Amino acid sequence: MNHPNRPFVGGNWKMNLRLASAVELAEDVHAALSNQPLAADLDAVVFPPYPYLQAVGRALGHGPPQLGAQDLADHEDGAFTGQVSAGMLDDLDARWVIVGHSERRHGLEEPESVLHRKLVRALTSDLKAVFCVGETLAERESGMAEEVLARQVRSGFSGVDQGLLASVVLAYEPVWAIGTGRTAHPDDASQAHRWIRSTLADLYDAELAAATRVVYGGSVTAANAAELFSRPEIDGGLVGGASLKAETFAAICRAAAARLA
Ligand code: PEP
Repeated sequence: MNHPNRPFVGGNWKMNLRLASAVELAEDVHAALSNQPLAADLDAVVFPPYPYLQAVGRALGHGPPQLGAQDLADHEDGAFTGQVSAGMLDDLDARWVIVGHSERRHGLEEPESVLHRKLVRALTSDLKAVFCVGETLAERESGMAEEVLARQVRSGFSGVDQGLLASVVLAYEPVWAIGTGRTAHPDDASQAHRWIRSTLADLYDAELAAATRVVYGGSVTAANAAELFSRPEIDGGLVGGASLKAETFAAICRAAAARLA
């Protein structure tokens, strides 16, 4: 790989915090990222719970970090109780959205067809998407990881216009590493990133695959981020637990920005 892609670090706050603590965290992350000369060097994005998007967006102003949502509906507006449309996210100035996080793909058994439609809905609505893929422990232990990742990437991206790929970050998130404290070995993570790019190269071409950002998620911390991000294949991270502390999230952002140094 040649010149590193622009690093990306996402902070997925999941179903944590309350209004006051979400606003406080947003202010602290904003201050921590504004105090260091790294904002221009990476895309740092936080993904608060839906009900706090507007308040967090106000606290962030023009950022950094940028604002994202944890999910979106595959439909336009209409009779879809409890769901949130791309247009509503746009109203709240959320510019990014996560699609296919394993807590939805596996936890809620969202089918691949729905995840594909969500990805298309996001990209055709001018949202940037973080599309998550990852194998379970049983799949890895039975030697199926490469096949599973290829299937998830193919089903997500089939028919997606290549011009939309610049608005996508793929997140390799092995299910067994999310929220478990068990981080993938950097060699295994790099290998998985190569598999993902090889499927993208089949679907599009090698140049586009190399230019598409692929990040790692699964128990990333301030202590392990630098080693993971030192691998040329790993363009940054999607961070859960460690994104709930501003200083830790900022340290992970610094580790990602150092890729360009
Ligand atoms: C995630 O939510 O995408 C994630 C990787 O969580 P954690 O960092 O807590 O493992």
